[in-house]
Amino acid sequence: MNLQNPTETDSTYDVIVIGAGPAGSTTAALLAEKGRNVLVLEKEKFPRYHVGESMMPFCWYTLNRLGLAEKMDEIGFQQKHSVQFVTTEGKISKPFYFFQHHDHPSSTTWQVERMVFDQMLMDRSRELGATVVEERKVRDVIRNDSGKVIGVKVVDPEGNEETHFASLVVDATGRDALMAGKSKWRTRDPELNKISIWTIYEGAMRDPGLDAGATTVAYIPEKGWFWYIPMRNNRVSVGVVAESDYLYRKGETRDPGEIMDREIQENKWLADHIAPGKQTGQYWVTGEYSYRSERCADDGLLLVGDAFAFLDPVFSSGTFLALKSGEMAADAIDEALTKGDVSAAQFGDYGAKLCQHIEHMRKIVYSFYNDDFSFGKLIKARPELRPRLTDLLIGNVDGVDFTELFDAIRDICELPEELDYGYKAA
Ligand SMILES: Cc1cc2nc3c(=O)[nH]c(=O)nc-3n(C[C@H](O)[C@H](O)[C@H](O)COP(=O)(O)OP(=O)(O)OC[C@H]3O[C@@H](n4cnc5c(N)ncnc54)[C@H](O)[C@@H]3O)c2cc1C
Repeated sequence: MNLQNPTETDSTYDVIVIGAGPAGSTTAALLAEKGRNVLVLEKEKFPRYHVGESMMPFCWYTLNRLGLAEKMDEIGFQQKHSVQFVTTEGKISKPFYFFQHHDHPSSTTWQVERMVFDQMLMDRSRELGATVVEERKVRDVIRNDSGKVIGVKVVDPEGNEETHFASLVVDATGRDALMAGKSKWRTRDPELNKISIWTIYEGAMRDPGLDAGATTVAYIPEKGWFWYIPMRNNRVSVGVVAESDYLYRKGETRDPGEIMDREIQENKWLADHIAPGKQTGQYWVTGEYSYRSERCADDGLLLVGDAFAFLDPVFSSGTFLALKSGEMAADAIDEALTKGDVSAAQFGDYGAKLCQHIEHMRKIVYSFYNDDFSFGKLIKARPELRPRLTDLLIGNVDGVDFTELFDAIRDICELPEELDYGYKAA
């Protein structure tokens, strides 16, 4: 192999996947299952911590296709049957029980420790035949003379460099967004620009019975909110999302723990639930909230999961979109490889469909942050639309017509224009 001047004939793999989060492992597993020769390069040694514990019911469909739906209960992840909302005054809404809308195994979803969940997905891609190499950080892609991506440059923990070649490279690097960053395709959402601080509590209060695993979204002033995600082993993931200026006020503490403690007192339900618990481990902080890449593909390259787009996590859509995009990518890539055409243009349908799913979720996220909107107000005005709203909250976004729902929301508050980028593959 001529590494100085590589050509497409040097290809060692059909597909190289960069990153073994839910998007990368799903893409790799399903392509390996189809008999494709797949290499996964992951910079970390698994198991590793990752935020994003609360799942949407429609994750079930991709997990089932991966042969993992039953394994989720065998592992014993906390079951989640509903989502509920708590006002700034500490008043709790009636839970949205998923099974009341869709009587199907997917209606029971889970709160997962991502350390365990992501390891399970990585193991499954190995079982199905993918080669997975951990502790390999991809520094850049390799292009041929006409600019087509034909491989990757990798570094191991000792600093040794490697190169690998494939017919197609998948960027599944999550919020590192390797190629959207390098190509300057990453564009921040005009308004969804929050920051987040989060940690884990042990022994915090759980609601009884079916509600023990409910995700709770608790409002605090100035469009901020907390997530309260009860997991197994008596642990609860708690995080606050708000504008940076609100959390980091001039002249006040900049300590993440002190900021969280201050904000917890803003919501009585939250303060009461956390009171018996003990904070454990570190506090994490992240900014640069929602973004989308201007392109989903280049010749020989496809973007999946957070490497393509990230949406404010208020409705737990991240892992769902990662799994879904991984599944859609695997099918699109298999078709492209069969045709022998991995040009960006091959992935136009993939980009268009994925953007449509993201736009549906993006509209409901925007309305969530609008002071004029509340779920209660919407359902009171248009009770017949409760099923459509629940479709969105469970991730049933494929082929469902949300026009009536969004028109009804528009009667209450403004909705964003759809972003005109991300659809284009080239
Ligand atoms: C504060 C916060 C709270 C969230 N809460 C939720 C939630 O409750 N529910 C939910 O569904 N989603 C949530 N999310 C979103 C969720 O975490 C992500 O959408 C999801 O993890 C995306 O999966 P992914 O596979 O695209 O990326 P990731 O899971 O981030 O995986 C990317 C992988 O790529 C690897 N990698 C990165 N760069 C390289 C490189 N150069 N070379 C090799 N490997 C590399 C990383 O190590 C990582 O393992 C939250 C996100 C944030 C920020």
